[in-house]
Amino acid sequence: MTAPAPQVRPPVPLARWYAAHGRHHLPWRATRDRWALLVAEVMLHQTQVSRVRPVWEAFLARFPTPRDAADATLGDVLRVWGRLGYPLRARRLWLAARRIAACGWPADLTELPGVGRYTAAAVAVQADGSDLPAVDVNIRRVLERVCGRHLGGREAEREMRRVGAPLRGRDRLWALMDLGALVCRSRRPACDECPLRRRCRSRGALPPGPGRRRAPYAGSLRQRRGQVLARLRSERRVAVAELDPGALDSLVSDGLAVRTGALARLP
Ligand code: SF4
Repeated sequence: MTAPAPQVRPPVPLARWYAAHGRHHLPWRATRDRWALLVAEVMLHQTQVSRVRPVWEAFLARFPTPRDAADATLGDVLRVWGRLGYPLRARRLWLAARRIAACGWPADLTELPGVGRYTAAAVAVQADGSDLPAVDVNIRRVLERVCGRHLGGREAEREMRRVGAPLRGRDRLWALMDLGALVCRSRRPACDECPLRRRCRSRGALPPGPGRRRAPYAGSLRQRRGQVLARLRSERRVAVAELDPGALDSLVSDGLAVRTGALARLP
């Protein structure tokens, strides 16, 4: 007697998958405040959700509006940013807050320091109800796998509308974002659980695009900069002689530290 063929469940539509499995609990999904969403998008760039969440909450408690951040020193902002990493993001966010406090929100958010095409579209979609497609690295991976080829920027935006239909705006963005994070993961995509599997041309077989390779963190300039910043966050002034000279030079040149004679401090 032959064994019965395994039951293969048909995929549910993307919208139904998202309703059942989406990350609806993420705190920045409960707001339409532009500033709160801009802060979230900047923090989430290259950083995991679990690390961002407590810092995002502390940051908005301390700087609930762009005016609050603009009135603070960059050092205050860096202290709240803490160990989230890539502190140039904090500096650009602070510069953006100053620009918004002085001139209001620009119609084109890419005019703000550190805000690129994806971040501008993602904030407009989540805060203002725009229907713009916003393609980040995870959504791009899903779209390229579904299409079975690498996509150019505008092409990926068109595919986002097509693959995400009939969802629009925030729901389309969040559904594809969550699918990339939870199912169509970079390594080991869970194709059997995927709502897009019937239309997916690659089923996870598409080789990764020419992404940037991250250098090892241990011993890197990034690690040494982090160590110097940690000292500067916890002490008002630190003797230059006690700090890694290369890391301090690099922080000073990025505007993230100030050296006055034999002492260093946050700006
Ligand atoms: S079927 Fe697999 S590769 Fe295709 S979108 Fe779904 S998880 Fe990604």
